[in-house]
Amino acid sequence: MRIFAQRNKFERFPCLKETINRIFIMNLHEYQGKELLSSFGVRIQRGIVAQTADEAVAAAKKLTEDTGTGWHVIKAQVHAGGRGKGGGVKLAKSLDEVKDIAGSIIGMDLVTPQTSAEGKRVHQVLVAEDVYYPGDNEPNEYYMSVLLNRATGKNMIVYSTEGGMDIETVAEETPHLIHNEEVDATLGLLGFQARRIAFNLGLSGAAFKEMTKFVSALYRAYVESDASLFEINPVLKTSDDKIMAVDAKVTLDANALYRHKDLAALRDIREENQIEVEAGEHGLNYVDLDGNVGCMVNGAGLAMATMDLIKQAGGEPANFLDVGGTADAARVEIAFELILRDPAVKAILINIFGGIVRCDRVAQGVIDAYKNMGNITVPIIVRLQGTNADIAKKLIDDSGLDVMSATEFQEAADKVQMVLA
Ligand code: GDP
Ligand code: MN
Repeated sequence: MRIFAQRNKFERFPCLKETINRIFIMNLHEYQGKELLSSFGVRIQRGIVAQTADEAVAAAKKLTEDTGTGWHVIKAQVHAGGRGKGGGVKLAKSLDEVKDIAGSIIGMDLVTPQTSAEGKRVHQVLVAEDVYYPGDNEPNEYYMSVLLNRATGKNMIVYSTEGGMDIETVAEETPHLIHNEEVDATLGLLGFQARRIAFNLGLSGAAFKEMTKFVSALYRAYVESDASLFEINPVLKTSDDKIMAVDAKVTLDANALYRHKDLAALRDIREENQIEVEAGEHGLNYVDLDGNVGCMVNGAGLAMATMDLIKQAGGEPANFLDVGGTADAARVEIAFELILRDPAVKAILINIFGGIVRCDRVAQGVIDAYKNMGNITVPIIVRLQGTNADIAKKLIDDSGLDVMSATEFQEAADKVQMVLA
């Protein structure tokens, strides 16, 4: 889905985009996303979440009572797509199979095209009714997502007849099969737009009507839950012309969670980067990245400019870190500690603008934290600019520590380049 989100004004600033995409969102599990959709009247493949193989069997029995289904799909619940390809989605044709499959999926480290090579530990599975009816050789799977188009300031519904597969591949190979319906936020999704979507998906009769209802309910759910992305892949047309969500990737706007306490409670920190979670507890905005240069910066804008600077100097940022307004010794020490937990870090660039906070106090903070830690072995480049910058530079230069000072942005970049060489 990233390909669509990219087409906005942030495209030229990769660090900015990646960071923004990571900080201000909260992901839901498939089962949570489906419950949310269902509460807005979106038809879903029904299921029950289970933490153990025995719970999975009980869930399957209950689903058989409620829906009459004999077969069940067992689906790993992790914050990553492509689970099917990684062996995290399997069909069970009996209760014994439910038990075996659930038992093997729960506790596994699921590797998919969207996870790291180590994979993601599966803590729970969704036991769902099998909705791909036997004898239905070619189930109709569609793709549908709702998201914000930053370029036009409108919501958009992106949809395709090519469901069930990787949408990035569809976009690359057959872009003409992807449609886009822009929705004005004040008007909402209009009737003719919902009908156009159903028409473009090649539907008629009962399925056509079902699809207009489906997409209208989906759009309403997106708006009213303050989501930033809904991605339903696949949307299924069953052999009896029902339209339902078989998968649900829901990303919420974290800045709006204050007015959705029920949704905020769905957060599963087991799925998140543990350093990021800890940083959040200290009130620091930290995003773990893949590079080798740690950054400690005040202000999100300067942080992202610093990351781009590191890239220009031939390095790769190891993290985004906004230490905020009070860069005192205690805070700097926590920041050092978080950054240094990443073994890939080969240097740290501290870039602080002293507007309200005085540079000499920050410099002292850096020196104190450095001495307190006693175990910092990577070179540190400090650029302090603003109030009392000259005093700050002198403090750093006279400290006798392996800390280099810089006044200008470029000078800082050059020093980063030098220590990496
Ligand atoms: P993803 O791989 O993480 O995107 O997980 P999905 O929820 O999309 O499931 C992957 C695939 O499993 C789908 O594309 C379907 O083809 C298949 N699948 C999902 N539900 C069912 C079901 O009820 N019956 C059968 N036979 N296959 C299913
Ligand atoms: Mn899917």
